[in-house]
Amino acid sequence: MNSTNDASSKSSSFPTPANGRGRHAVVTGAGGFIGGHLVKALFERGYESVRAVDKKPFAQWYQFDERAENLVLDLEGKEACERSVEGVTDVFNLAADMGGMGFIENNKALCMLSVLINTHLLMAAKDAGVQRFFYSSSACVYNADKQTDAAVTALVESDAYPAMAEDGYGWEKLFSERMCRHFREDFGMKTTVARFHNVYGPHGTWDGGREKAPAAMCRKVLEAQMSGDLSINIWGDGEQTRSFMYIDDCIEGILRIHDGHFVDPINLGSSELVSINQLVDVVEDIASVKLERDYDLSAPKGVRGRNSDNTLILEEFGWEPRTSLRDGMARTFAWIRGEMLQRNIDRVQPALPFPSATTEASSESENASVASVDAYLASEPKAGDFPGSDPRWKGLRDSA
Ligand code: NAD
Repeated sequence: MNSTNDASSKSSSFPTPANGRGRHAVVTGAGGFIGGHLVKALFERGYESVRAVDKKPFAQWYQFDERAENLVLDLEGKEACERSVEGVTDVFNLAADMGGMGFIENNKALCMLSVLINTHLLMAAKDAGVQRFFYSSSACVYNADKQTDAAVTALVESDAYPAMAEDGYGWEKLFSERMCRHFREDFGMKTTVARFHNVYGPHGTWDGGREKAPAAMCRKVLEAQMSGDLSINIWGDGEQTRSFMYIDDCIEGILRIHDGHFVDPINLGSSELVSINQLVDVVEDIASVKLERDYDLSAPKGVRGRNSDNTLILEEFGWEPRTSLRDGMARTFAWIRGEMLQRNIDRVQPALPFPSATTEASSESENASVASVDAYLASEPKAGDFPGSDPRWKGLRDSA
């Protein structure tokens, strides 16, 4: 075998299942963005059982499906991986310590430790006789020298070699891709690998430092509207280019690749290339606002240009991600707006004397509470209040 994608292993002889009948899946990273959507999709596909595993406590899962067997386990350990794959036919490994550019540029060691998850999961899956193993790789595996121009030529799968991946996160993904390949070649377990290009959509990270550009832009535009400070901070000069894939396309792609015959790493991304400035244009248009742009040239910005070449996925599957950026961003914006409003309401309410809904004397105190909520909302915000977190800031109540 040579060191690049190998044409001889393009198609496998593993059978293609028609649906989820007789299949039992585990989704790792199920408390995260993509994993949460995948759990639901597997039930829709007719999988007989789905186990959902994540190291985060349940309260922090983006989605929680009661139909699944939900487990909190840290999959860096082999025993946790063995527990996760007990009785399953299909493994979907989406667990990784990751985030947007700000996170991966500053947490290289943490990102590389995700190698423990995929290594122990592959070992456990092999021992348990798992039939199919899906691994979520990333466009960060691509050679940085091929991404220096904003008018980038889209990346084809062979551009990962000679290897010069994104430091930390990308190298871990590239190593784990190869580990999947060798488990397939040496042990006969069907492994498939998709290289995701920037996935976005509802039920994902939108603040806290791990969020990616689409969610960050929605939040920043909303914060500007809510605070009345009509400016936005953009990392870099905004001319760096990317493509962004809507979550529904990502899930459909995962299911197609996992069940298909193609077993080498393959791009799973949108080919609609936009600059970060154009992404901001889209969000401004959705929000019906125009903001002053403030460029932070010292912020992490990643490679200059990156796009997904979809020739291979079209050839192999007759399909590629199709949701337009405008449509996907409109749905994402609506979801993040709802989350921000809810967070503000949650923050304000506990501080107020809300009555118990079940007490006899509730109506009088309820009226008092409503009055105090109104009084609170009508009061002036104090210096030091965070604009996006307080419903008294102009725009928030009107848009609620
Ligand atoms: P996410 O951060 O929302 O979800 C990952 C989940 O993995 C988190 O909930 C986290 O708690 C969990 N996890 C981390 N370490 C764990 C451990 N030791 N044991 C158990 N769970 C652990 O990320 P996502 O966007 O849903 O990404 C899913 C996968 O897709 C990841 O492997 C990621 O690298 C890959 N990917 C995502 C994108 C993207 O744009 N979202 C792009 C390329 C690749």
